[in-house]
Amino acid sequence: MVIRMSNILSELQPKAVFAFFEEICQIPHPSYHEEKLAAYLCDFARARGLSFRVDALHNVLIKKPATAEYEDAETVMLQGHTDMVAQKRADSEHDFLRDPLKLVIEDGWIRADGTTLGGDDGIAVAMMLAILDDDTLVHPALECLFTVQEEVGLCGAAGFDYSDIEASLLFNLDSEDEGVGTVSCAGGIRVDMKRPVSYEKKMTRYATVCISGLKGGHSGAEIHMPRANAHRVVGSILSALSETVSFRLSSLLGGNMDNAIPRDCTAVIAYEAQDESALHQTLDMLCQTKQALLSHADAETGCITASYDAGEIPVMTAEDTRSVLGILCMSVNGIVTMCEDMPSLVESSCNMGILCSDDHAVNFGFLARASVEERKEEIRVLLAMCAKQFGASIEYSGSYPGWAYDKNSLAAARYCKVYKRLYGREPRIEAIHAGLECGLMKHAVPNIDPISIGPDMKDIHTPQERISIESVARVYETVCEMLKEK
Ligand SMILES: [Zn+2]
Repeated sequence: MVIRMSNILSELQPKAVFAFFEEICQIPHPSYHEEKLAAYLCDFARARGLSFRVDALHNVLIKKPATAEYEDAETVMLQGHTDMVAQKRADSEHDFLRDPLKLVIEDGWIRADGTTLGGDDGIAVAMMLAILDDDTLVHPALECLFTVQEEVGLCGAAGFDYSDIEASLLFNLDSEDEGVGTVSCAGGIRVDMKRPVSYEKKMTRYATVCISGLKGGHSGAEIHMPRANAHRVVGSILSALSETVSFRLSSLLGGNMDNAIPRDCTAVIAYEAQDESALHQTLDMLCQTKQALLSHADAETGCITASYDAGEIPVMTAEDTRSVLGILCMSVNGIVTMCEDMPSLVESSCNMGILCSDDHAVNFGFLARASVEERKEEIRVLLAMCAKQFGASIEYSGSYPGWAYDKNSLAAARYCKVYKRLYGREPRIEAIHAGLECGLMKHAVPNIDPISIGPDMKDIHTPQERISIESVARVYETVCEMLKEK
């Protein structure tokens, strides 16, 4: 059953959380347009006499002093992001810069009509406001940080000045799974390699090796899955081919995003007429062999083919061909290390996500990730070595820190204790092999001890995004109880 009205959340508990959430939904706040919500937060703090500051990015920090008998307890930072992903159904006329969201309650869940809801992470904003607004709660000194541009690269958290932060515990409220505490995330660094090439004489026969329709996926969260990297499949075919037949590379074209496992890749190679039959035979066989090696997920739509043509095309020199194949096959890719204290967690990995040749060079783009900074550095060094070995230049950019798993985390211990007391069972403690704001905060405030939690949400970043009403109530209770602990 669908109920819709204007003040749609007013009957829900906890009343304050949903009242603030409904107000937030009236204020447009897609990424890069958080200024109206920031102004609302400043008005909120001003009206209650709470100290606050807002920076040029529109990050807002609101502080509230400890309640009686909590003056000596460790300061806690509560944190969530104010921006939301703006996605709508094709038939929706919603204007994310102007229109309030149209809320719908359905079977115990809240969603928005035709658009993302911004429960990610508006519910964190609402919970923090409800806590700041409630003078009956007991808690230590609070630092509530509302960051911007999380969804577009953690920019708010990266640009914030943490110099006046006193908190030693951080409860980040940006998870989507009730009963799961996230205790580690990965940092990353983008690595670009450029191997200059020159083209020479044209050859008269050429083959096109085409990998298409592999499953692909997120280069962090899905790097441990049995999914082939299309660039590496091409690399393995051509390196095997080079053992028996001579050919030259003419062009390479693969993925164009460093953070996605590439699904497609096309290589054009050229050869002499005299090698034609040997090359066809070997290449056909290699395509079949590699097709048979694909995982079930990749094989569903993945296809490895070679086609042959006659005609003149320019080719890279023999030396350039060897070096480019060297980088394609021998650079670091996939899982590099697993975490000792949490054996299911990928500790470090690398993804060759970008590949394309142009008139002067072959360009490779990698994203290395690691929860442990030194592991990230290890991968960087391996890639630098590879570039040097094969005559490529290398550039680094977009480095951001990870957050290593600490099995002695007080934040995690407090969460587990409270959760068990309230719900009679152990929560799950997990880590993700992708970036979170906690990583940047841990880096900026080394003594801070973070945990990330949040209520059940489904299909975030899509127009089907929804948030569980009962789960919000339980997570709010959990956060309030965690503040009560000393
Ligand atoms: Zn989020």
